[in-house]
Amino acid sequence: MINLILFGPPGSGKGTQAAKLVSKYHLYHISTGDMFREELENNSSLGIEAKSYMDKGQLVPDSVTIAMLRKRVQDNTDVNGFIFDGFPRTAPQAEALDELMESMGYHISGLIELSVSKDEIVERLKKRALSSGRADDANEDTIRNRYQVYLDKTTPVADYYEAKGKAHKVKGIGSIDSIFEKLCDTIDTM
Ligand code: ADP
Repeated sequence: MINLILFGPPGSGKGTQAAKLVSKYHLYHISTGDMFREELENNSSLGIEAKSYMDKGQLVPDSVTIAMLRKRVQDNTDVNGFIFDGFPRTAPQAEALDELMESMGYHISGLIELSVSKDEIVERLKKRALSSGRADDANEDTIRNRYQVYLDKTTPVADYYEAKGKAHKVKGIGSIDSIFEKLCDTIDTM
């Protein structure tokens, strides 16, 4: 079983690369951002609650996010492994994920960070806004807030796995295929 965390700032290419990794390694993809957007499309109370945070570029509270993630993992036991995209995003989420994995007899194989500079992120997300229809991409202040939240709340997650010797870094600049190749090389060494 391979259980991967794909890590990096908003707009670093996690979703794009996750899709390619899923088809190569036959993993089950879990994107908490996609899950919140699906909840919102269904007009569920969870979706409506999440939207109030997402639109401001803030994180949805840990208790809500962890419960949603836990259910998705527990509902999908017959898989080759998971690729976590956009989760964990805080240190308590990382601890909760480790606990969940352990309770199921699984473990995290590694975290791979896609590193991309802040200026590149802002440009990519402004461009993505033209086609994504996402409220949180449309406003430059919201994008900057998301990046700041990443620095303040999310980078400790990489430190958490670094301390366990499980953190890897790949440069997230270049063609989609060249980044994918570097990701695969890293996974194959795990
Ligand atoms: P991006 O990585 O481009 O910011 P995502 O689709 O991963 O986009 O997330 C969009 C929004 O959903 C986040 O800004 C946040 O409000 C919420 N969200 C997603 N994942 C989490 C999480 N693990 N914890 C808290 N909030 C989350």
